[in-house]
Amino acid sequence: MTIEKRYENILNKINIASEKREVNQNSEVMLLGVTKNIKVDVIQEAINLGLKNLGENKVQEFLNKYDKIEGNVNWHFIGHLQRNKVKYIIDKVVMIHSVDSIRLAEEIDKRAFKIRKKMDILIEINICDEKNKSGIRFDEIENFINEIEKFKNINIKGLMIIPPKGKKTTFLKEIFQKVYKKKIDINATKRDNIVSYLSMGMSSDYEIAIECGADIVRIGQSLFKRDNIT
Ligand SMILES: *Cc1c(COP(=O)(O)O)cnc(C)c1O
Repeated sequence: MTIEKRYENILNKINIASEKREVNQNSEVMLLGVTKNIKVDVIQEAINLGLKNLGENKVQEFLNKYDKIEGNVNWHFIGHLQRNKVKYIIDKVVMIHSVDSIRLAEEIDKRAFKIRKKMDILIEINICDEKNKSGIRFDEIENFINEIEKFKNINIKGLMIIPPKGKKTTFLKEIFQKVYKKKIDINATKRDNIVSYLSMGMSSDYEIAIECGADIVRIGQSLFKRDNIT
């Protein structure tokens, strides 16, 4: 299948899932093309078809691609981020999806201040308390927001999750719904719309995530086929 066909299919499925959902009906779902391990010319093809938002999860790979990609695109950083690497990406990305420690938030704040930028961030949640996985605990979200709200050069924009692999639809639905409910609860108690975005849903589960209230879906494999991997 061509990239064009894949891209069309995904946009179609996003539309259908958006129309089916009973929550979050007024928001538009953002498609983030996840470019890890994908060659530049293939990414460029998707951009030429209209893809606007790209996500990378490794700093070095991101920097290698950043200069080569042409067009008006927004880069999102979605992977685990070490504090000493914030300075390399701070001026190049529109959103960091993976803030999971106060020290990281502090570093982003400091680097953003230096370039007079307000950095949009999402808080990564380790939704099932998995070992070896980044993210803060679900029951720590409010405390974490209270702690990092004091940083003036970051804008808290929402939450990001990566569900465990290989789970059934019913299980995933429960997770996505739990996160959506948290969004509503937080927005009711804190500054309205502090959680504007839920970044959840990947190639295998994005339709379910949208039906449950996702605002951003991060799609790699389904968009960029396997034989285009470097
Ligand atoms: C790789 C990756 C994705 C995309 O996963 P696919 O299954 O290829 O769609 C989404 N989010 C993060 C954080 C990733 O690292």
